[in-house]
Amino acid sequence: MGNKVLSSICYDLHSHSSASDGVLSPTALVQLAAENGVDVLALTDHDSTDGHSEAAAAAAAVGIRFIPGIEISVSWRNRLIHMVGLGVDGNYSEMQQGLVDLRAKRTLRAEAIGAKFTKIGMPDVYDGACALADGVVSRSHFAMYLVKQGVVKDVQQAFKKYLQKGKCCYVGCEWASLEDALKWIHGAGGQAVVAHPARYKMSRTLFREFLVDFKALGGVGIEVSCSSHNLEEATQMAAYAQEMGLLASAGSDFHSPDNTWAKLGRVHPLPEGCQPIWKDWD
Ligand code: AMP
Ligand code: MN
Ligand code: MN
Ligand code: MN
Repeated sequence: MGNKVLSSICYDLHSHSSASDGVLSPTALVQLAAENGVDVLALTDHDSTDGHSEAAAAAAAVGIRFIPGIEISVSWRNRLIHMVGLGVDGNYSEMQQGLVDLRAKRTLRAEAIGAKFTKIGMPDVYDGACALADGVVSRSHFAMYLVKQGVVKDVQQAFKKYLQKGKCCYVGCEWASLEDALKWIHGAGGQAVVAHPARYKMSRTLFREFLVDFKALGGVGIEVSCSSHNLEEATQMAAYAQEMGLLASAGSDFHSPDNTWAKLGRVHPLPEGCQPIWKDWD
């Protein structure tokens, strides 16, 4: 189901290219978006804006609107939170410096993950994962390599068996603070949006505390419709958005055409009563 059901414009405001852990180049991503009927596409690579200029050129060529975005890795009270920025100027130097630092942390973490694989008798995994990465090295690249080698049947299994918190090759990291991430997004002229909020499995109390912090720092939106949420979760997030006076966003979190549960441009319409994040966009 596309957003077209509710609105004549199809928005997909969360997607990844090969500049982070997506498998398509920015150009191929934009072309697929156009084929799938997307009118407005945000590229939100993890901790990188390197795909922006290529994607913007491709969007101009196929006639869709491009929103330059980012998905920043944040640590809040020892939890990993993904913070999406929409409409960010990639030339804003304070944000770029922050992203350079985050990518350096990713490199160190990748080495530590590699050391853990070596310890369990898989010394090739580090080089294999790095060979699949182009700038940003992610746990997804480790997972893709393990699938490629036939060690696991799919990316989910790689996380379940090796890479997620509590598993043998997991390595924690202190990412950006919520304060810094929002400062960068706002300094770059963007709107801050909490990515896939239902994925964090916070209690209601903790999630409200998080949203209070987020709002106090100028955050304006949460993803309500996204591939990580079932309808019940989307409804629940719509209620939080209304309660807290936040705008609602919609995005597929597309990474790969092979992924059957996150298709580019296929996002449920926002539940009734939501104020869309794009309501004041020209
Ligand atoms: P990283 O930012 O390097 O910690 O990697 C996180 C990325 O891995 C996310 O953005 C997802 O694309 C992917 N990911 C995380 N958990 C899972 C999972 N359980 N199954 C599949 N992919 C996952
Ligand atoms: Mn990802
Ligand atoms: Mn994410
Ligand atoms: Mn994402």
